[in-house]
Parts: sequence; structure tokens; C-alpha cells
Amino acid sequence: MIIVYTGGGKGKTTAALGLALRATAYDKKIRMIQFIKGSWHYGEMSSSSRLSPEFEIVAVGKGFVGIMDDVSTPQQHIDTARQALSLARKSVSDDTLDIIILDEVNYAIHLDLISEDDILGVLDACHAGADVVLTGNYATDRIIQAADLVTEMRSIKHPFQKGIRAKQGIDF
Ligand code: ATP
Ligand code: MG
Repeated sequence: MIIVYTGGGKGKTTAALGLALRATAYDKKIRMIQFIKGSWHYGEMSSSSRLSPEFEIVAVGKGFVGIMDDVSTPQQHIDTARQALSLARKSVSDDTLDIIILDEVNYAIHLDLISEDDILGVLDACHAGADVVLTGNYATDRIIQAADLVTEMRSIKHPFQKGIRAKQGIDF
């Protein structure tokens, strides 16, 4: 099954984490690969070890691209996205893994760090027993076509609009 969480509302990565939490109950082996995040510390990076060895998070990305605290060059972002891509390729052909989560992968495509064809190739190469989850806004039409389940998070309200910044335990 190919699952996509996209849209401008909050909840895409946390939906994928919730899915991982549920799946560990059945001894499924899950790997989340983070394509963009990496420079910030997110709570799940610590708490995932409590679900180890069933669940692991590999943060490959270098953090925000072009905004906030971005100190990486465009080429460094491309290199790290390609590293994440190569781990994704390896992971989908690893039949000891049941669920592979490609976190923020849609942004990596949107920002031209990797191509849509790269990821469609990963989906094609996926072993028959695996489920793949793709998160990030701007999922492309062809990714949506390839998916079995697509949910669009739509923002109705976000505290950011009131000037409230990211909150520990909620946003990171
Ligand atoms: P989360 O990790 O909380 O599930 P997400 O994966 O849906 O969020 P991303 O696009 O990956 O969202 O962005 C990550 C950060 O941006 C989070 O801190 C999140 O709270 C914030 N964010 C998400 N949606 C919005 C929004 N509509 N307005 C402002 N900030 C947002
Ligand atoms: Mg996210």
C-alpha cells in the first residue's frame, strides 16, 4: 500500500508517526527516513528509541531549505536529499522492513532536490510485502496517481497565524 499525507495543514508527519506507533503493536519493522529535517531536534527522534528495534528514524536532511536557520548551501541540500533517496532505495528492497516512511519527500521533489521520477522508481522497486508512506505538501499528480490512500490536511486554523511559534511537544 502506498499512503500519501499532503496538504497545507498541520499533521502530516504526526499522522505517519501515529501509523508507526500502531504498527509496532504487530511487531512490524518500520523505518522513517527524513528528507529535509535534520538540523532541528524533534521529539520523535528521541522517543523512537523507546520503540526500538521495531521503529527507527534516520534523519538525513539538513533542516529547512532556504528559510529560517538554513546555513547549508543548495548543493549540500541536494547531496543530502540524494543520500536519503539512496537509503530509500535500499530500504524498499529490504524485506526485513514492513513499512518505510519517506518524511517530507514531497517537499524534496517540490524544491527540485530530487525528481519525481526518482521517487516513482523507489515505489516501483518496493518489495511486495511493504507499505510506503510519503509525507509533505505539494504531492505531485503522478505520486497521487501511484498511491492507494491519499489524505490532504487542510488548515482551518493554525496558532502561527496569531504569531504563536512552534510549541515543544506539539510541533517539535
Ligand atoms: P507535524 O510535524 O506537526 O505533523 P506537518 O508534517 O504537517 O506537521 P510540515 O509541513 O512538515 O508539517 O511542517 C512542519 C512544521 O510546520 C511543524 O512545526 C508544523 O507545526 C508547522 N506547520 C504545519 N502546518 C502549518 C500551517 N498551516 N501553518 C503554520 N505552520 C505549520
Ligand atoms: Mg512534516
